[in-house]
Amino acid sequence: MEGREQMDKSKVTIGVLGLQGAINEHLQQIESLGLKGIIVKRADQLSDIDGLILPGGESTTMRKLIDHYGFLEPLKEFSNSRKPILGTCAGMVLVAKDISGTTDSHLHLMDIVVKRNAFGRQKESFEAELNVKGLNHPFRAVFIRAPYIESVSDQVEVLAQYNGKIVAAKQNNILVSSFHPELTKDTRFLELFLQIVNEQQAV
Ligand code: GLN
Repeated sequence: MEGREQMDKSKVTIGVLGLQGAINEHLQQIESLGLKGIIVKRADQLSDIDGLILPGGESTTMRKLIDHYGFLEPLKEFSNSRKPILGTCAGMVLVAKDISGTTDSHLHLMDIVVKRNAFGRQKESFEAELNVKGLNHPFRAVFIRAPYIESVSDQVEVLAQYNGKIVAAKQNNILVSSFHPELTKDTRFLELFLQIVNEQQAV
């Protein structure tokens, strides 16, 4: 970004929560940008990373494993200390304050209400060209049994919509997408996340 100091990529480590889901694809994208990527399987590894990706997969399964491996409080602390988090698809469900139609929610980190599997059965998976705030040309987004954001508080910045539904947003240190940015060769969404990492490192 112009006028802002570029981060030294070789000094930045991004973790991918390695309990379940699309872990390796994120790791490959991180490494393709010259950053160090690690798979986070133990809560103490959170202190080794500058940003964390909660990948897509199955949020209910991931939650069970989060509890089993003692991640619930450490993940909240990670976020409370303003460390950057990128939640993609199921990862977005994990960070939401509320999940539509149920009293079950998980980390309560972001002021969004999320609807799971929200595009209907006929749209189990699809791709769409999205205009994403901060990206200068459309981003081809891959949706797989995707959630969308039903509502946001005024603390949340909406970054993209698809058919009038919110599919990407940001609140302070947390960036989320309904889609899977790691499943395309386009690294620009990950780079949006790295801007947050960069900003937090400058604080
Ligand atoms: N439907 C899944 C869930 O709610 C998310 C799907 C995905 O991550 N691709 O957990």
